[in-house]
Amino acid sequence: MTRELRCADLMPGCNFVAQGNDDSEVMKKTAEHAKSVHRMAAISMDVEKKARAAIRNAEGSAR
Ligand SMILES: [Zn+2]
Repeated sequence: MTRELRCADLMPGCNFVAQGNDDSEVMKKTAEHAKSVHRMAAISMDVEKKARAAIRNAEGSAR
């Protein structure tokens, strides 16, 4: 099942969507994106918590 995290849930206005086969893959892509696009040197515990809570099943994968 594909999991995804919409960056807009954390960073309003950003249309990046990270997808992966599991949460850790999504988190890895999100961390890379946050680093390069949002200039976040590291994901803080607080941001990671919010990011993990925002991960959901990708639309279409359950159909
Ligand atoms: Zn973003």
